[in-house]
Amino acid sequence: AVPLVISRSTSIAAKKGLLIRNRKPFERFRKVEAVVFDKTGTLTEGKFEVREIITFSENYDKNTLLQIIASVESLSEHPIAQAIVEESKKNKIDTLEVNNFKSITGKGVEGNINGELYHAVSVEYLKDEGIPIPDENKKNKAVSTQVYLLKNKKEVLSVINLVDRIRPQSKATVRSLKELGIKTYMITGDNEEIAKYVSEELGLDGYYASVLPNEKAQKIKELREKRQTVAMVGDGVNDAPALVTADVGIAVGAGTDIAIESADIVLSTSNPQAILDLVHLSKSTYKKII
Ligand code: ADP
Ligand code: MG
Repeated sequence: AVPLVISRSTSIAAKKGLLIRNRKPFERFRKVEAVVFDKTGTLTEGKFEVREIITFSENYDKNTLLQIIASVESLSEHPIAQAIVEESKKNKIDTLEVNNFKSITGKGVEGNINGELYHAVSVEYLKDEGIPIPDENKKNKAVSTQVYLLKNKKEVLSVINLVDRIRPQSKATVRSLKELGIKTYMITGDNEEIAKYVSEELGLDGYYASVLPNEKAQKIKELREKRQTVAMVGDGVNDAPALVTADVGIAVGAGTDIAIESADIVLSTSNPQAILDLVHLSKSTYKKII
């Protein structure tokens, strides 16, 4: 039978929008030593906006570049892709026909347009392929997420800079967790520069940048060797293995079905402060019965 205090806590939890799917991890959570947050969509809003389109080739104007990138991205569901498609719509740009579309996990997308192969990818992809990154001083100095447009795996035509706002409640959440003696980390597929920026803004204890989806779980494993109880908070498909690997997996907000199914606890809100409610609830629940 379920002890009364626990069942009462479960209903308090439900009222606060916390769904406890597995009780053991909830019990473990009161002793949590480290919380690892996914960046995009968890600590940040996960809604990107195009800030700047930089051209590296004199043969293309910005609208043509945006048209090419948006056409390839129109077949992707990534929040970055949505922002780029949105920007092209705002500029009343039609999309072109794309063949052989492929998504490159954690790095970008590719597709053929009029017989030319285009990639809309991260800087990591360019490094992997040994493709030189164009003149740095043409690049925006602001901290942003970048999508490079590469033609025929040879020529980098453009870079689009996008920004995603840090959620207003993230900072207070991190501060409160620290006051409770809990370490905070961030894990992201995004670049080093942006990870460092978000980490410093929020006062995190550490971060992992440019982590491929299949490597996220490995990072959690490494952290578990150092810290007793590690919780992972995420929303995306690429967070699912990490949610399963953590001592406590927490899915947040409008998370994807797969993240929700992989989580021990589901928070219906996107407000990261709900993590604090969860800490308090797990502590008070088990204080009463133990
Ligand atoms: P996160 O861990 O932040 O949720 P992802 O693993 O989804 O990030 O993506 C990691 C990186 O891969 C992104 O920051 C971006 O640079 C690149 N990327 C992923 N999908 C796309 C896309 N559709 N277009 C361009 N770049 C992409
Ligand atoms: Mg995410």
